[in-house]
Amino acid sequence: MSTYDLIVIGAGPGGYVCAIRAAQLGLKVACVEGRETLGGTCLNVGCIPSKALLHASHMLHETHENFDKMGLTGAKVKVDWEKMLNYKAETVAGNTKGVEFLFKKNKIDWLKGWATIEAAGKVKVGDTVHETKNIVLATGSVPSSLPGVDVDNDTGIVVDSTGALALPKIPKSMVVIGAGVIGLELGSVYSRLGAEVTVVEYLDVITPGMDAEVQKQFQKVLTKQGLKFVLGAAVKGTSVGKGKATVTYALKKDDSEHSIEAECVLVATGRRPKVDNVGLDKLGVELTDRGFVKIDKHWATNVKGIYAIGDCVPGPMLAHKAEDEGMAVAEVIAGKHGHVNYDVIPGVIYTTPEVANVGLTEAAAKEAGHKVKIGKFPFMGNARAKAMMQADGFVKLIADAETDRVLGCHIVGPNAGEMIHEICVAMEFGASAEDVALTCHAHPTTSEAVREAALACGDGAIHV
Ligand code: FAD
Repeated sequence: MSTYDLIVIGAGPGGYVCAIRAAQLGLKVACVEGRETLGGTCLNVGCIPSKALLHASHMLHETHENFDKMGLTGAKVKVDWEKMLNYKAETVAGNTKGVEFLFKKNKIDWLKGWATIEAAGKVKVGDTVHETKNIVLATGSVPSSLPGVDVDNDTGIVVDSTGALALPKIPKSMVVIGAGVIGLELGSVYSRLGAEVTVVEYLDVITPGMDAEVQKQFQKVLTKQGLKFVLGAAVKGTSVGKGKATVTYALKKDDSEHSIEAECVLVATGRRPKVDNVGLDKLGVELTDRGFVKIDKHWATNVKGIYAIGDCVPGPMLAHKAEDEGMAVAEVIAGKHGHVNYDVIPGVIYTTPEVANVGLTEAAAKEAGHKVKIGKFPFMGNARAKAMMQADGFVKLIADAETDRVLGCHIVGPNAGEMIHEICVAMEFGASAEDVALTCHAHPTTSEAVREAALACGDGAIHV
């Protein structure tokens, strides 16, 4: 048994990044992980496998939809599902092994097994109790359940996101319950692979919380791609028959009941913090009313020496938010000043086109009392996007009308997930829309659309 400066519980992007930063700062660190591989939800059953399938299915879509138009002709590409799943598994393994390598390089002990906290400073893994000065909880989250809906990832008929990343076959039809990021990304994958996809959503809009114009445009584009939407619908339950499931829902507008049948139902109604397996109740660690670990602005819980970060604490459930908190809390524990700017956390949906946002929506900016000016630029005016045959969408920049300070940015379009970082940096530095507009952008790039949106906040964009 060793005594550590820090034991991190959970090796997702929050936990493993925290462990690495703490080790870099000279602390003696261990990280406990119950899964067989490191990397948490993100690397094993989240960001990375979903992006592998999004990439492969996007490539397929390109060959079917656009290759011929570009003069690329020849035999039609077909899907070998088993091979695609292998490609996904190899991508995952490459990344999880990468974290293992980083642990070795930084002399971090990987304690294999499920941890419980016996008392502040005592973490039990298997039969061994390890002593430590500090504990960081980074236990992440798990898919939420829905009353009346029984998920069974083994049969592949009613599945959660983990099941949807490893279906036994490509279904001919799929119902996605929930029009959030995960549902739309995975719905897009199977739609491109040939499934008829219907998305059933409780609210009247898709991607709740996003800018209203983005929601509208994104839904329009996905509809053009073949996805169907049933909005304002409360799912009552699912029943499973021979190789199929029936989803029953009531339309909120008139309470009328309907049902829809599909070979696969993906339940993507959100995630909940995983905090029930660590012994927090025994220790008296306070939770919020929604079940997240309560923390102060230094990520400390109410029990001395126990901190929490990532999906198990309030805030957006995103890998990069978890990573930022991981680095910051390691710095706090090492006696430095860890900091996370929660006003500048980008969000990306990795469909085609991508959707990205940072900062305030137009509605939120107005609600916060800002007089706003909006600079909008359509990708139809962007030469590169047109050459890529991806000119659907726009950049919408929101600035304060009095100070010109950038308040937020919302993009639907090619490379949106990369382009958004320009505005993240601008916001970190308190830049004005004019600062962005005055910055030379290389031609031809999709990033020029960001500059044009910034120009539109002033005297006007050029290419409209
Ligand atoms: P997790 O990654 O959930 O890791 C927690 C780890 O702790 C787990 O490995 C778990 O086994 C372990 N653990 C829990 N309890 C214990 C215990 N008692 N003892 C030992 N180990 C324990 N986010 C993005 O930013 N971009 C994306 O593109 C994206 N795509 C996603 C796609 C899908 C399908 C899903 C499901 C999620 C996606 N996310 C994405 C969200 C992202 O995965 C999470 O926000 C992120 O993984 C949270 O990191 P974390 O470290 O807090 O927790």
